[in-house]
Amino acid sequence: MTEPAPLIQPTLASPAEQTFPTLTPAQIERIAAHGRVRPILAGEVLVEAGQPVIPFFLVKAGRLEAVRPSGTGETRIAEQGPGQFTGEVTMLSGRRALVRIRAIEPGEVIELDRENLLALVQTDSELGEIIMRAFILRRVELIAHGLGDVVVLGSNHCSATLRVREFLTRNGHPYSYIDLDRDAGVQELLDQFHLGAEDVPVLICRGEVVLRNPTNQQIADCLGFNEGIDPSQLRDLVIIGAGPAGLAAAVYGASEGLDVLVLESNAPGGQAGASSKIENYLGFPTGISGQDLTARAYTQAQKFGAQLLIAKGASRLACDRKPYALEIDGGPRVPARTVIIATGAEYRRLALPNLSQFEGAGMYYAATFMEAQLCAGEEVVVVGGGNSAGQAAVFLAQTARHVHVLVRSDGLAESMSRYLIRRIEDNPAIDLRTHTELTALEGSDHLERVRWRDNETGDTETRDVRHVFVMTGASPNTHWLDGCIALDAKGFIKTGPDLSPEELTAAQWPLARAPFLLETSLPGVFAVGDVRGGNIKRVASAVGEGSIAVAFVHQVLHE
Ligand SMILES: Cc1cc2nc3c(=O)[nH]c(=O)nc-3n(C[C@H](O)[C@H](O)[C@H](O)COP(=O)(O)OP(=O)(O)OC[C@H]3O[C@@H](n4cnc5c(N)ncnc54)[C@H](O)[C@@H]3O)c2cc1C
Repeated sequence: MTEPAPLIQPTLASPAEQTFPTLTPAQIERIAAHGRVRPILAGEVLVEAGQPVIPFFLVKAGRLEAVRPSGTGETRIAEQGPGQFTGEVTMLSGRRALVRIRAIEPGEVIELDRENLLALVQTDSELGEIIMRAFILRRVELIAHGLGDVVVLGSNHCSATLRVREFLTRNGHPYSYIDLDRDAGVQELLDQFHLGAEDVPVLICRGEVVLRNPTNQQIADCLGFNEGIDPSQLRDLVIIGAGPAGLAAAVYGASEGLDVLVLESNAPGGQAGASSKIENYLGFPTGISGQDLTARAYTQAQKFGAQLLIAKGASRLACDRKPYALEIDGGPRVPARTVIIATGAEYRRLALPNLSQFEGAGMYYAATFMEAQLCAGEEVVVVGGGNSAGQAAVFLAQTARHVHVLVRSDGLAESMSRYLIRRIEDNPAIDLRTHTELTALEGSDHLERVRWRDNETGDTETRDVRHVFVMTGASPNTHWLDGCIALDAKGFIKTGPDLSPEELTAAQWPLARAPFLLETSLPGVFAVGDVRGGNIKRVASAVGEGSIAVAFVHQVLHE
């Protein structure tokens, strides 16, 4: 077992000191330069839970406490004295306060509004590091103790419950969970709100609003994820999609002074957020979960002032005028001087109920050297009849004991290149099973066994296979582009040198210069990551392309 990577860089200070650091007089003076000093009275509430705009307070004299109010009283979370400061990640995102901050002893505080706090963390690297570390650790504590403003009542056997919990987790939002299958006293709670089994999952939002099987958008609205963001404001750069490519573009764009808005139809993280452990991303020798990696990127983008609209997908690009405009689900048009499309692709998944349990733990969507090492000397299954499946089978056969290629059709002739079919036929370590599909996956922490069925004979077979490679292709999320941009035969976006003179003429490319690298057939609109034709489906390449595109965005803005 490898150790998980720490969420933030280690220091010599203890975890408690990092979470609630006491600043030096010199550091306090630097903060004072960004804010104003004001007196506090014992009992005075400085921040109310649910308050939309939260100031930052540094205690000069006196004491503050942070409590989480609930229907039955208050839960004390922390106390802060001279040299210590209030706040957590909500201060960066501009979301509503999760806790109440009250003075318990009279004294004096330095107060900063959000803009001044952002300016401080961006310009003072020492204080920026101390404050960001404390904010993240405090959020981690709130999540660990379920000290949020949301209660989810659901069942582990219900896919909608899993969706709601995943949405809150991916947004780094603390919540408490009541398992209806286990909690005996819960019926009383359901009766109190007049709820039946058909309403599951139920979400109690800020102790006030009860949502029955809510959509992600309803949850985002109720928790105010998008409050304080004006979508109708003209931006330098609008990024569509908050996977690794979009988040990288947001970090580079915002840190280089651009006014950046990101639209995300679901939650930040994209496909990478679903990966239990990414072991090949530079700088993380012991691996990092996709959720941790993208959560850091999300916070980093917010630190530099990028804004993210959550659960608001782009439904159309208005490309017939400048500035361009994005239409979003249930909202006004979003005008943009430049656009980066980072909407990724949907890997076609197998319709097996426990598939997600084994993703990254025996089920793979890529066959690289790393995966090949994992299954050295073992029996493996490759699902799919296209070239990617053929390449994977031939490659894996070099290290695996045996490779079973499962295809639903009656052969490979129509879907795979001739040379690959020959190699598969000639390789005794590979056998091709036509008319066959996987019907069951078994195991606990890791895949241990699979069952497949021959659809012609109806025969099933169970084998101790611990590694399955799903190579059934990916569909790009480009349906919403509605003819605005040149796509390749499979619907991926064509960019830069891949665009032929004929395609540029057909697209009425208006400029004397050729499209920049990663620029689409529409000037000032870029495509990065998995959605781009010819892209290598890796986190690192998505991040690299997101950062490269920003360099060209600057050039377009200066044209
Ligand atoms: C299970 C799994 C494990 C993986 N493991 C690894 C690994 O170990 N190492 C590695 O390098 N790569 C791995 N990959 C591949 C890697 O995750 C992808 O290459 C990478 O996530 C691509 O990033 P992206 O930002 O281009 O797209 P995505 O990650 O797909 O993100 C696209 C985002 O756009 C959003 N979106 C889509 N349409 C719209 C719209 N209309 N409006 C607004 N938002 C929209 C989506 O909700 C999503 O959040 C793995 C992939 C999977 C599925």
